[in-house]
Amino acid sequence: MSASVLIIEDEEPIQILLKYNLEAEGYRVRCSALGEDVNFLIADERPNLIVLDWMLPGISGIEVCRLLRAKPETRDIPIIMLTARSEEIERVRGLATGADDYLVKPFSVPELLARIKTILRRVNPDVVEDQLKAGDLILDRKSRRINRGQRDINLSPTEFRLLEQLMQNPGRVYSRGQLLDTVWGRDSYVDERTVDVHVGRLRKSLSRGKEADPIRTVRATGYAFDERFGRS
Ligand code: CA
Repeated sequence: MSASVLIIEDEEPIQILLKYNLEAEGYRVRCSALGEDVNFLIADERPNLIVLDWMLPGISGIEVCRLLRAKPETRDIPIIMLTARSEEIERVRGLATGADDYLVKPFSVPELLARIKTILRRVNPDVVEDQLKAGDLILDRKSRRINRGQRDINLSPTEFRLLEQLMQNPGRVYSRGQLLDTVWGRDSYVDERTVDVHVGRLRKSLSRGKEADPIRTVRATGYAFDERFGRS
């Protein structure tokens, strides 16, 4: 799984608890205590889902939710809203903010994880399914195996994550910088040519002889998993 979750929650113990548990499940997690931060956090990297607290120190969670729903580019990001009391859920619902789901504090972490998975499975199945398939290529997240036809393909952990990232959004073009952030991590100090080197190795491992290359180089931009791969 390499879905990214954004947590907007001002209670630090809850923030830490959620981050820890979501990362243990394989999610990439970013946190903020302020609703005001949501725009630049999304501009920086669009999350697959947002966990949003209602009561925040600045603009409220409801307001954040409304702002996100009002803009075409953020309208579709799923939101799970956290509230302090069950009566509040009715009020939040009444305000028609368009959250996808609601949880009352204190909530159980497994319950939240289950709800996140349910929503992601509905709106973006490729980020949560155990296997990604395209043509004769299968990436298995659980066993960390890659197969092409009958052939086992051995990849380094970095190349595995690189392929996973590209494969879960076929056709989407990633810049080298975006791949560095998502595959190598935001705190790594590698330069963009490293991406080219790893893509080169990945290609060599994936395709032999006349086998089609599933990775597309997009000139002056970056790389994509070829959405036509395995379809012709
Ligand atoms: Ca709060």
